Amino acid sequence: MSAPVPADTAPAPAPAPAPAPATDTDVAIVGYGPVGQTAALLLAARGHRVTVLERFPRPYPMPRAVSFDGESARILAATGVGAALDEHVDSSRDYVWHNADGRTLFRVDVEDAGRSGWPDSSAVYQPGLEAALAAHGESHPTLRVLRGHRVTALADRGDSVALTVEGSEGSEGFEGGTLTARWVIGCDGANSVVREEAGLTATDFAFFNDWLTCDVVPHDGREFVPNNLQVCDPARPRTAVSAGPGHRRWEFMRLDHESPEEFGGEANVWKLLSLFDIAPGNATLLRHAVYTFQARYADQWRRGRVLIAGDAAHLMPPFAGQGMCSGFRDAANLAWKLDLVLTGRAAEGLLDSYTAERREHVRHALTMSMDLGRVICQTDPAAARDRDTVMLAAQERARRGAEVGAARPRTPVQPLTTGLR
Ligand SMILES: Cc1cc2nc3c(=O)[nH]c(=O)nc-3n(C[C@H](O)[C@H](O)[C@H](O)COP(=O)(O)OP(=O)(O)OC[C@H]3O[C@@H](n4cnc5c(N)ncnc54)[C@H](O)[C@@H]3O)c2cc1C
Repeated sequence: MSAPVPADTAPAPAPAPAPAPATDTDVAIVGYGPVGQTAALLLAARGHRVTVLERFPRPYPMPRAVSFDGESARILAATGVGAALDEHVDSSRDYVWHNADGRTLFRVDVEDAGRSGWPDSSAVYQPGLEAALAAHGESHPTLRVLRGHRVTALADRGDSVALTVEGSEGSEGFEGGTLTARWVIGCDGANSVVREEAGLTATDFAFFNDWLTCDVVPHDGREFVPNNLQVCDPARPRTAVSAGPGHRRWEFMRLDHESPEEFGGEANVWKLLSLFDIAPGNATLLRHAVYTFQARYADQWRRGRVLIAGDAAHLMPPFAGQGMCSGFRDAANLAWKLDLVLTGRAAEGLLDSYTAERREHVRHALTMSMDLGRVICQTDPAAARDRDTVMLAAQERARRGAEVGAARPRTPVQPLTTGLR
């Protein structure tokens, strides 16, 4: 028999539900990036009317994320997308840090049956992931995706929200105007209009680095060993990782004395890629872009009937590969709670645990990403030597431990000390 649930930790009992106002949709999701897609699929699978408003007429064709973790794999499975993802996803296999001399500072071998029942890390081609999720979305009769529709304003009316929507060329189905929803989820990325309109403030951790991101398709069939490599060279911190089947990602940090314009130019891209024997003769450069990595999260993720998720709620440097993963967890956390509220089985107050739970997880992921970034982005040669000494000694201890059969420490589960429980 299960233990009784203490009254003060049980979900608040639902009051007699007020009759729902007539709205165009139950949930309006602003933005159809990976987080908006996941939220839309999880809610539509529970039978709710979901309308997505996406400003671009066509999906964004270039990857940003290149990997996701085991819990994300479990959430993606819960969307029902199934085997359609397989051709866009590979096991990450490993993640290795080298110092400037090529000595191993740190190594993780990816478990293919991790804690969540999925590989602890998978490499992904993001446009393929988004295409598979979008195709699966077409099978849901209650999910309507309106591409070419930009949301410009919101008005929370207490029992519903009115969204002001501009249709653009190529708009499908709805010309624009006002759309009403019982709830709104802003999955509209870093410059979120929904966050602004809801007046949600953010805490910025003042962590900035410019990195040149190069997405490449190599043609020479070579095997990259290690598959995912971080080169902690103070003269040029750089990254070489899988970006899903057939795709690779190289990233290079901009040094203080380099002008952003020259650094991001194509001539410099090929010069930097030549460090890895990548040249126009053996590879296609799909795109290159300089990103300024940032660290911030919103202080509140809900105001009234408006919620935010994904990059709209948090931004973090990609060193821990947790930006999109955190967004998937936001979507999963919101989906079951909104389902209970929409069906009258829980009071709206349940949604207050969303900020409490997700912000604490994100604080952990964000802090870890910044900590890793400080170690990786070290450009002072003396400090880099000190780092190498400490990390090489730790490697040696781990090697000796493995020889006598000591268990490898597992990555801790993200802490959760607040929220519904
Ligand atoms: C170089 C780089 C590497 C990364 N690597 C990883 C990684 O390996 N693993 C990982 O987990 N994360 C990684 N990330 C982070 C990850 O890419 C993002 O966290 C993720 O893509 C965010 O998804 P999203 O759906 O929240 O936002 P977005 O993908 O930005 O989607 C937002 C959508 O909203 C739409 N939109 C915006 N405004 C409006 C409006 N007013 N009306 C209608 N639509 C609107 C946009 O057009 C867009 O389609 C990386 C990021 C970068 C930059």
